[in-house]
Amino acid sequence: MYYPNNTLKHKLCLRGNHLLYEYAEARRIPHKKTGKYIVATNEKEITKLEKIFNLGCKNKVELKRVSKDEIKENEPELSVAAGIFSPNSGVIDVPSLINSLEVDVTNNKGIISLNTSCKSARINKEIFIISCNSSEKFDFESKVLINASGLESFNTSNNFDFLKKKFIKKIYFAKGHYFKYSGKNPFKKLIYPISNDESLGIHVGMDLEGYLRFGPDIEYIEKIDYTFDSSLKNKFLESIKTYWPDIIPEKLNEDYCGVRPKIQNKDEQFKDFSISTSNFHGIKNFINLQGIDSPGLTSSLAIGEYVCSLIE
Ligand SMILES: Cc1cc2nc3c(=O)[nH]c(=O)nc-3n(C[C@H](O)[C@H](O)[C@H](O)COP(=O)(O)OP(=O)(O)OC[C@H]3O[C@@H](n4cnc5c(N)ncnc54)[C@H](O)[C@@H]3O)c2cc1C
Repeated sequence: MYYPNNTLKHKLCLRGNHLLYEYAEARRIPHKKTGKYIVATNEKEITKLEKIFNLGCKNKVELKRVSKDEIKENEPELSVAAGIFSPNSGVIDVPSLINSLEVDVTNNKGIISLNTSCKSARINKEIFIISCNSSEKFDFESKVLINASGLESFNTSNNFDFLKKKFIKKIYFAKGHYFKYSGKNPFKKLIYPISNDESLGIHVGMDLEGYLRFGPDIEYIEKIDYTFDSSLKNKFLESIKTYWPDIIPEKLNEDYCGVRPKIQNKDEQFKDFSISTSNFHGIKNFINLQGIDSPGLTSSLAIGEYVCSLIE
């Protein structure tokens, strides 16, 4: 409901959401379709809420408008002006998901080389020769090269001698903090206040045991840095109080932070996932993924499906 119509983020998020539930059911990966409320915390935000609703409907996302009273009935501690309900939103145990994917790779005769860094790649007679550093250095050959190195995608792409610099996108680092709540969780669903262009706002999330977590915020940084800034607590409280006035401040404590790989700089307009093929950079069977920020996890299985379809 957040991404412009017909973009990769729109299409792959929608398909990925469906595939992820299907996969989680089949592999018994812990998950919960909690549903989520997107909320306008005051009358002024209702116009923005309407825009999200209309975009969601255009994008064929299942959504329902909900009144202030209806929300109050379901989530008595929530104080908002209006909302939208998304029944297909949920939470998933990510380490279990990754473990399951790892089993799939190895069961299909794939090899995962852990603690290994791809240093460079070159082409010889249409074959990629990929040089790696692990406990020792080694090269391997492949007919296809897919670069999905997240925050490092700019640096890794720069080390591929066949790729012209003009085809490499700069990556901006956008840090996000999460605070956890040690008090009772009064919410049954995920709660997302209105987003801005860069992030989905400081929302209410929960893990599968129901423990509350708030975040992420967004701060553009120059270098990858996972130091937690505890001074953000007041900013978080201020934002949370706009929809949950009864939060007990002493029970809000630092949790963790992450860094998003964005191709969209601060104050720039929406940028889509960048998944480029020979149509863009001219290198057959080299697929370069850059700017796979949110909703990259929800989209992950659909991204995989899409990337497979691009192999020539
Ligand atoms: C704070 C935060 C909140 C988020 N919330 C959500 C959300 O609610 N929903 C959602 O869908 N998504 C969310 N995301 C986004 C999601 O985490 C990413 O989209 C997803 O992790 C991207 O996956 P990836 O495999 O492309 O990259 P990554 O997960 O970053 O994996 C890249 C891998 O490449 C490896 N690598 C890097 N360089 C090299 C090299 N030279 N050689 C070998 N390996 C290398 C790295 O070690 C890493 O393991 C969030 C992200 C953040 C930071």
